[in-house]
Amino acid sequence: MSSAAAPVASVAATSASGMVDTLLRTWETAYSASPAERALGLLAAAWPEYDRSHWRRLCLGDRDACLLLLQKGLFGGRLHAVAACPACGDRLETDFDAGEVCPLPTQMPSPREPLLLEHKDYRIYFRPPCSDDIAALDDGAGRGEGATLLLQRCVVSAHRGREPVAAAQLPTSLRRRVIAAMADHDPLADLRLAVECPSCRHAWSASLDVAGYLWEELDDWAQDLLAEVHVLARHYAWCERDILAMAPTRRRFYLDMVQA
Ligand SMILES: [Zn+2]
Repeated sequence: MSSAAAPVASVAATSASGMVDTLLRTWETAYSASPAERALGLLAAAWPEYDRSHWRRLCLGDRDACLLLLQKGLFGGRLHAVAACPACGDRLETDFDAGEVCPLPTQMPSPREPLLLEHKDYRIYFRPPCSDDIAALDDGAGRGEGATLLLQRCVVSAHRGREPVAAAQLPTSLRRRVIAAMADHDPLADLRLAVECPSCRHAWSASLDVAGYLWEELDDWAQDLLAEVHVLARHYAWCERDILAMAPTRRRFYLDMVQA
């Protein structure tokens, strides 16, 4: 497998305008997509040598670790978070490194092989949930049905002795064991950040939505860039392609002159 760092570099190593074009097209395509589809679009754009099914079948923790790596490659490894203290309600801000949240992958992760859970006379092969499973939940599950649908999708096979058992027919306690085992085998699926309130010293772990964070960064970048294009195109009558092809420093000089 190729290293995960190389594909990120390959995006950055394209000509500046090529990278800008790729990112803008990714932003444009993902703009009206669901958060899950946006994450997949970002990953597919960054590592085009892997097809969509690779990203769809990657467990959520591995997907988010790749997104953090992409965040670092595109916008730097320093992240900024805002949260409300659950104890006193104060708003607090914190900066942290991507690597503090989880170990960044050095090798491209692959979709997981089924894992075995044995309990009494049951043998259950399962896999941790992936993006495809979450999409299925979003599409079809009503309240309370999510866990059942997830089990039906993620339990590859289940037997009691030699008899096959449908995932939905497993005893409740065993279903809970399988759900817990899924979480144990993909701990990064629920990325958390240790936070302490400076006002009341309450400490808690805040959930981190890596895909949402990266999307916000890309959205801000794209909208700022298009605003620059708008100003320069209107003032100089240059075409969008030529403005986007400029190095950011040169574009900034022109913008400063226009806005002086
Ligand atoms: Zn507080």
